[in-house]
Amino acid sequence: MELYLHIPFCVRKCAYCSFVSFPAAAEEKDAYVASLLREAELRQSEADGPVETVYIGGGTPSLLSPSQLRRLIAGLREYYEIRPDAELSMESNPGTLTAAFLDTAVSAGVNRLSLGMQAYQPEILQFLGRIHSFEEVSRSVSMARAAGLNNLNLDLIFGIPGQTLSDWDETLDAALSLSPDHLSAYGLIPEEGTPLQRRLENGEAVLPDPDLEREMYDLAIRKLRTAGLEQYEISNFARKGYECRHNIGYWTQVPYLGLGLAAASMRILEQQTGLGLTCLRTTNPSDLAAYQEMIRSGNLSAAVRETISPEESRFETMMLSLRMNRGVSESRFLALHGVSIDEVYGEKLEEMRKKGLMRHENGAWALTRKGMDIQNTVLVELM
Ligand code: SF4
Repeated sequence: MELYLHIPFCVRKCAYCSFVSFPAAAEEKDAYVASLLREAELRQSEADGPVETVYIGGGTPSLLSPSQLRRLIAGLREYYEIRPDAELSMESNPGTLTAAFLDTAVSAGVNRLSLGMQAYQPEILQFLGRIHSFEEVSRSVSMARAAGLNNLNLDLIFGIPGQTLSDWDETLDAALSLSPDHLSAYGLIPEEGTPLQRRLENGEAVLPDPDLEREMYDLAIRKLRTAGLEQYEISNFARKGYECRHNIGYWTQVPYLGLGLAAASMRILEQQTGLGLTCLRTTNPSDLAAYQEMIRSGNLSAAVRETISPEESRFETMMLSLRMNRGVSESRFLALHGVSIDEVYGEKLEEMRKKGLMRHENGAWALTRKGMDIQNTVLVELM
């Protein structure tokens, strides 16, 4: 199984951000860490086998103090069996990392660090509302390497208002100059209620046209491949052996337990041959007071609960696995659902193969590049 922990603290809100995050004082962070640990204790019985991956995300986990981080990871180890070879990832933001924090993280077992670089140009970073410069990204990478972290990811964004193809090229070059082991490149999505969305509505900013965005994406694929970072998922690229195990687990429906504000969990309720897979997804409250009250009372029913039927589970397998270049494995599909992929989707997959949208090789169905470009249309067909 996988563990996810949400740390909702940020120095300030980025213009495009719709995650649950806010600034907080040291005492509030202390109280939150205590709630997280209490939740970890309350939910021990939900653990589905040893923990293969832990992901500490946010927000900005690097805004915790070294002692808060140490307490948190030690507490997790007390309540869950974390495998000795588990991947333990943590998100962080340049400008918030210190050598003391990184040393604590490494000694507590963190072995993968993800840094939000986003862009190279100061004016684009400012437009996005980021709190750091590229120089701070570079310093953070050096500090992380010095602390012994040899699995580093950089997050980048393309398709930003005002960003040109040459800006994006320069951002990719700058990121590659730091020799990351993994790189995530996300197309900017304006989310409801964000300052970015308001600026777009007021006409103060304009998104690049879709052709330019596509050129940016193509450039990333080409350039990163040349640098030894192979694309393994729509937005993710890695050196061989450095693919993010936590995310792959999510895309292959490994059960996960999410602790903290707004964190989601998924567990298998029933798996019967011929009847398929029934899952339960729960989501914690996204309001801090409601979350803390839920934990204080010990009554976890305040979480939103949703049962996923065998039919929905099969579709989720397609939706999640088709994000990855390796696609949906026929044997994995059969093991999960007790029915062959051929029986459920065979006819439609074959039709799409003939249209050049899917490929069928090495016991798996995967999207072609043409199929990836219209992934949503492909999924609607499968529905
Ligand atoms: S650092 Fe990340 S989580 Fe925090 S406000 Fe910015 S985008 Fe949101």
